[in-house]
Amino acid sequence: MKIRLIDIEDTRNPVVNQILGELDRKKNEAASTGNEELANDCWRELEALKVNIKYIEAFEKIKSKRYRDAWIDLERCEIDVNSIKINSDSGFFIASRCHFIEKQVPKWQSLYPYCLFISPGFKVGYYTCRICNHRIRPRSRCSHIKGKIYNGELCVHEAHDVEMLEISLVRNPVQKYSVAHNDETLDFSLINYLSDFLDNAFENWEAHWTRMSFPMERFSRVDPGSDCPCKSGKKFEECCINEKEISIPHVDFEFFKKIPDEKTRVRFPY
Ligand SMILES: [Zn+2]
Ligand SMILES: [Zn+2]
Repeated sequence: MKIRLIDIEDTRNPVVNQILGELDRKKNEAASTGNEELANDCWRELEALKVNIKYIEAFEKIKSKRYRDAWIDLERCEIDVNSIKINSDSGFFIASRCHFIEKQVPKWQSLYPYCLFISPGFKVGYYTCRICNHRIRPRSRCSHIKGKIYNGELCVHEAHDVEMLEISLVRNPVQKYSVAHNDETLDFSLINYLSDFLDNAFENWEAHWTRMSFPMERFSRVDPGSDCPCKSGKKFEECCINEKEISIPHVDFEFFKKIPDEKTRVRFPY
């Protein structure tokens, strides 16, 4: 069955829920009768549909300026789309829009002002395979590969006897859920600016990170004790304050539709 799935209203269509339920039922039935190929096909369809919905929800949250909530959804999309990629061919991956989502998520993430994350450190007693319950030891592994699907179920290694060791602040976490910032103090203008131009989650866009130089006069309102506009991490007075011009990070957005000219001029953030 073909359904329209572009806007948040589409995701609330009762037919979408029906399809999700039907796929899940078919998957379980195929798994219980040992039809692994069908069970895996159902898993793929189900996960691809869910990730499409999640991506539309993330876009909706960005549009309504709920940036932190959208961030969580984008991270979920990143993880799930990766699972689908490992378990599907490129034809399915592209046709189900997973390829598009995989390509767009890191671009959205790059526009966020987040750079610090909380990363918990654990000591794990032992792991078991979710597929066969085998207790995994260095010399005793089962035949299942982590991240692959078997009979419609994703193989993950479940941790047991977990002890929390420490919490650290990191720049590149394994998962990006735990943001160590207070959103109120951050600047979301890039993502806000971009989302104003987009009508739906599946419109294509590109972000090109460049630098642009501006004469020093333009920075007369920058406090010498604040961060340098060049983003070196140093204070303005210890960095570019005596230069003739300053080169600042700049993003060029590329759209694949006509944008009114008055909206395309360069926005100067100082
Ligand atoms: Zn196993
Ligand atoms: Zn500087």
